[in-house]
Amino acid sequence: MTDAELKRRLIRRIALGGPMRVSEFMALALHDPTHGYYATHPGLGADFITAPETSQMFGELIGLWCAHEWDVLGRPAPFHLVELGPGTGALMRDALRATTKIAGFHQAMRPHFVETSPALRALQREIAPHAEFHDVLETLLIGPTLLIANEFFDCLPIRQFVRDGAFWREREIGLDAAHALRFGLSPTPIDNAALPGRARAAQPGAVFEIAPTLKTDVEAIVARLKPGRALIIDYGGDGLGDTLQALRAHAKEDVLAHPGEADLTAHVDFAALAEHARGAGLHVSGPLAQGAFLKALGIDQRAEALARANPDQADKIARGHARLTHHDQMGALFKALCLSSPGLPEPAGF
Ligand code: SAH
Repeated sequence: MTDAELKRRLIRRIALGGPMRVSEFMALALHDPTHGYYATHPGLGADFITAPETSQMFGELIGLWCAHEWDVLGRPAPFHLVELGPGTGALMRDALRATTKIAGFHQAMRPHFVETSPALRALQREIAPHAEFHDVLETLLIGPTLLIANEFFDCLPIRQFVRDGAFWREREIGLDAAHALRFGLSPTPIDNAALPGRARAAQPGAVFEIAPTLKTDVEAIVARLKPGRALIIDYGGDGLGDTLQALRAHAKEDVLAHPGEADLTAHVDFAALAEHARGAGLHVSGPLAQGAFLKALGIDQRAEALARANPDQADKIARGHARLTHHDQMGALFKALCLSSPGLPEPAGF
């Protein structure tokens, strides 16, 4: 049993070295090369369904968005089409199919995937055999670039801080008397100045989340868009609140229950993301609700055309459209943000 094995390793490590930060736990549970979730669960759809896996329309519209923005950039050839964490490759498959007839686009495109999981890389290679793979953002090339990241930033490890009276303490994972994993708080408080201004007024019990690698990741992206745009779509938040969750077989479960067997995510702090990008000289568009963004790109018309052409699948198409755009589904909780190198017009859809 691989999950029990990772859990045993975590317990041993904590017993020897003391409590660990949430970020360390997340990094091991998701990325441990032998027992981590992404190394052992290439069929992501068994635990959660992302937008491109919900409906082909998502990848198609993003593909057409890329083709449009390529045109805006002056049709550079070659240009880098970068995807961060392509998962099963569904978005890229639909984006490539939707853009085959756009003169010159495929010829100019050089696909680059940032992906750590060998199992997922194998699936992605079937969809884009010529793609170059990267373990980290830093090896991506500098130049004309369109970058897509859907549900990538939500798996970045986060640290959590809890307001305890006048202080903030770090949430840590330790052991209870029976040697089981449990959450606790750091005995020493955190310097309040280490948290951004919007956390200062928080009430006792409030939780603030920070993804420690977000700033360097944004800066790495910024340095490569020469010129270019990065389209980031994810669960949106502002850092406040406990948003760490574990999903297994489409159900939420205790974060500590099955490390390596469940997907772990936290809402993306779009305020921090935008701040880092602006600080590095980029133009920021959004965040905009996913539903509004997809409607601006023409999802209603695309759903109608698809249903007309495939009447037997009309129900499925309508369900996909609703799931991607409705307020009470993915339409409002998910947000789109676009980072652009200086001097470009507003991107399509914003
Ligand atoms: N974008 C896809 C999949 C989202 S799941 C979709 O929308 O369906 C998250 C993806 O990011 C997986 O492919 C996972 O292996 C990859 N990933 C997560 N953290 C990563 C990291 N730090 N570096 C590279 N890839 C990562």
